[in-house]
Amino acid sequence: MDFNPELNEDQIQIKDWVHTFAEDIIRPVASDWDEREETPWPVIEEAARIGLYGWEFMAEAMMNDPTGLTMPVALEELFWGDAGIGLSIMGSGLAAAGIGASGTREQVMEWVPQCYGSPGNLMLGAFASSEPDAGSDVAGMRTRAVYEESTDEWVLNGTKTWITNGGIADVHVIVAVVEPEYRSRGHASFVVPPGTKGLSQGQKFKKHGIRASHTAEVVLDDCRIPGNCLLGGKEKLDERLARVREGKPGNAQAAMQTFESTRPAVGAQAVGVARAAYEYALEYAKERHQFGRAIIENQSISFMLADMAMEIEAARALVHRAAWLGKHRKYKNAEGSMAKLKAGRVAVWSTERAIQILGGYGYVRDYPVERWHRDAKIFDIFEGTEQIQQLVIARAISGIRVE
Ligand SMILES: Cc1cc2nc3c(=O)[nH]c(=O)nc-3n(C[C@H](O)[C@H](O)[C@H](O)COP(=O)(O)OP(=O)(O)OC[C@H]3O[C@@H](n4cnc5c(N)ncnc54)[C@H](O)[C@@H]3O)c2cc1C
Repeated sequence: MDFNPELNEDQIQIKDWVHTFAEDIIRPVASDWDEREETPWPVIEEAARIGLYGWEFMAEAMMNDPTGLTMPVALEELFWGDAGIGLSIMGSGLAAAGIGASGTREQVMEWVPQCYGSPGNLMLGAFASSEPDAGSDVAGMRTRAVYEESTDEWVLNGTKTWITNGGIADVHVIVAVVEPEYRSRGHASFVVPPGTKGLSQGQKFKKHGIRASHTAEVVLDDCRIPGNCLLGGKEKLDERLARVREGKPGNAQAAMQTFESTRPAVGAQAVGVARAAYEYALEYAKERHQFGRAIIENQSISFMLADMAMEIEAARALVHRAAWLGKHRKYKNAEGSMAKLKAGRVAVWSTERAIQILGGYGYVRDYPVERWHRDAKIFDIFEGTEQIQQLVIARAISGIRVE
């Protein structure tokens, strides 16, 4: 099967469905939730009611799509609506993806539905890897997981930071160190079930953008979880650690394919924000008159819009192709990183240009472009910063361990 950028009937329907939700439900309340800096529960509830927030939608979009394009198409529309609310709806997907990546079939069946709950009984998931001293440098992680054979329990201790839905989630997926001397190859992922003692929320962050999405520290203080909450199971972990002990190489290629395959989704979110700003600026430039003509009649304005249109097309093309490559596990030159890096930059640049086109009106909160500009910056930071994407691409194209 070759890459085909055409969307199929199902994808066109999903695109229209998410767009309508973004336009009718998200946009009217986006500014309000941004100011409140709180999780927009009524919007998530509405998303659950129509089947957009739920494990069934995620499973359908991820597994029953041989093209890989369904998820980026849906995410672009959702984040076109609003990035903070979009992340509140999609944040649980990070936990679900963590469980899907490392868990057994039974663990996926048990825990993924609990990352979402159901309409009227919403639940949230959180994925916690980052720590105060271990952001880009994941190998520097300190949160420890120690196995207690007598009780068949794992005991977790440490502090996670910048965690989307951290502390308010029902299911937390925690990455922790089992064997410190093996660096990142000594890490494992754990599910902390709802209501477990010893897990609490630390500081909740007040952010520059995506303010409707909850971001906080997660503190683990002698947090005890049953042995079967180790994702993948103890036998598999012991086998993996034995291979490291014997000096056998890890499966770096498989790990690269997994990390790369989540990046186009973040790129699609960034394209949604960029497109929101471009569309708004285009309409504004047609209506705003100065010197007796619409400002779009000035080349300096219309050329900016032409460049924005081109950059957004380019970013989307990279994102869609990278999503297809991810689906077929065909990455060669870190195309997932390329897509995320390009889309993040396009979002920041396009939203800044949109402010320029609106002039003073772009700089104030009565108009949405300043919010979109604040929101856009996150795409250069989370799920791997700009520089980390460059590092991954540089290593992939050169075969050299660039530092
Ligand atoms: C709103 C928000 C939500 C988040 N959600 C989650 C979440 O749900 N779960 C989670 O686990 N994490 C989450 N994160 C954490 C995010 O992934 C990290 O912030 C990110 O990985 C960067 O880590 P850091 O902030 O510690 O920056 P650092 O790693 O300290 O980087 C600081 C600067 O140094 C640069 N740098 C670092 N190393 C190198 C290098 N080797 N070469 C060149 N430059 C380098 C970086 O690019 C950056 O410019 C979230 C962050 C934010 C802000």
